[in-house]
Amino acid sequence: MPLFQPLVRHLKSPELFGTIDRLPCLGTSVSQRTFEVFNPSTGELLAELPDMGIEETRAAVDTAFCAQPKWAVLTARERSDMLWRWHQLIVDHADDLAAILTAEMGKPLAEAKSEVSHAAAYLQWYAEEANRIYGETISAPSTDRRLLVIKQPIGVVGTITPWNFPASMVARKISPALAAGCTIVLKPAEQTPLVAGAMFALAHLAGFPEGVVNLIYASEGDAVGRELCANSKVRKISFTGSTEVGRLLMRQCSDQIKKVSLELGGNAPFIAFDDADVDAAVDGAIQAKFRNAGQTCVSANRLYVQSNVHDEFVDKFVEKVRHLSVGDGFDPGVAIGPLIDRQALAKIESHIANAVAKGGTVQCGGNRIGKEGTFFQPTVLTKISRGMTVAQEETFGPLAPIIRFEDADQVVHDANNTIYGLAAYFYASNLKRVWRVAEALEYGMVGINTGRMSSEAAPFGGVKQSGIGREGSRHGIEDYLEMKYLCMGGI
Ligand code: NAP
Repeated sequence: MPLFQPLVRHLKSPELFGTIDRLPCLGTSVSQRTFEVFNPSTGELLAELPDMGIEETRAAVDTAFCAQPKWAVLTARERSDMLWRWHQLIVDHADDLAAILTAEMGKPLAEAKSEVSHAAAYLQWYAEEANRIYGETISAPSTDRRLLVIKQPIGVVGTITPWNFPASMVARKISPALAAGCTIVLKPAEQTPLVAGAMFALAHLAGFPEGVVNLIYASEGDAVGRELCANSKVRKISFTGSTEVGRLLMRQCSDQIKKVSLELGGNAPFIAFDDADVDAAVDGAIQAKFRNAGQTCVSANRLYVQSNVHDEFVDKFVEKVRHLSVGDGFDPGVAIGPLIDRQALAKIESHIANAVAKGGTVQCGGNRIGKEGTFFQPTVLTKISRGMTVAQEETFGPLAPIIRFEDADQVVHDANNTIYGLAAYFYASNLKRVWRVAEALEYGMVGINTGRMSSEAAPFGGVKQSGIGREGSRHGIEDYLEMKYLCMGGI
């Protein structure tokens, strides 16, 4: 089947993106096996890609390893220029990239466009940051010495990305690595490899030297992951995905004390205090809960609402949720696309069943839409208590469980009572409370009176079992640099 045939009607440059199964940065599948990529909205087959494993990963690492010293020796400005060119190509082809993303992942086209522009923003940011890698000089403890610190690229980086943000996760990892002088081998998620391929096609056009960016398509992430962790030419693993797989990769990297950056699962609390602007809190909760059909690592997973404003909040929130339209991401006006697969449907259903069995009430939604496909009604549950699964686990779907609370100190304690520590949100107006709560929440990121906070300018990442390291901002590039101390004696 010609690649992308079902997508051609959506693309302005099908000839450019129709070649992503034959990119120069892609090895050939030794086994000649292929795997299929489907549109989760329609079930339509989109593409058949070469399926790669250990052997191809090893070859890609060898290529990246040979290319790395030549890439690192370029001036920062030269690396920056290349990133700028890639950024511009992504901007120029944003509509096509968004269409590919919607087709393979299902999110509404407007959200896909916003993700592509977010991806481009990372490239822009790190094109600039490439020029700002600074060392330091240190006052020496004796007059005959000079102490300095220089920063050097870490080497070859193995990167593995998830399906929920298949464009921005790629850019968020690759751009700081390339800016720092590293070369990369990327394995995108099995369900969403097409937009990554399209971005690599543009990297090829931008003129990156051979071997600097390398792509592995694979239906089985574990074999590729094992090779990237075991291969001593790979000096770092950068992974975004579930905590379970992150833990496994960290274990696999431990033999070589290989560096890891991990962006893992979350279980974000969203707290509306009684001094909050309730309308703003409702809007923020809609954004934080239902963007990407609730399939984001920073999704509000537990909504805590203080007693005095609980009923007003629930009424206004449910009214808005009822108006969120669900459907094919290409249809105008659609706010919520399909879930990624049937497993995701089963998870959300089991969370609802558990809550209802323990006394929870379904305020709206609660059911699948249609027998085929993976569409689910946006759902609000009330009368939620601590012992229910929804109050403890990441649902990763359009389900908002609301927990009534009385005591402000207790709610912070409950919000922190999880192994995760990625994102938290709260709405309040009292300045003292705002500071106290912001400082007390054990999370890498806290949204205060906002339901959306991701930005290339800010450090994204979690504490506890939500990860290690930060992506974005000036801090993001540090994860791809080694610090070397130089001590000059006899001066
Ligand atoms: P996942 O199952 O961990 O998969 C993520 C990536 O890892 C995919 O490319 C997958 O490949 C690969 N993979 C799976 N098993 C592997 C293994 N044994 N060794 C090496 N690679 C392996 O996660 P997901 O279900 O796609 O994504 C959802 C999770 O990611 C959620 O928990 C979410 O919170 C988290 N997430 C976190 C962030 C963040 O920034 N903190 C951002 C987005 C998502 P295959 O596709 O081939 O299985």
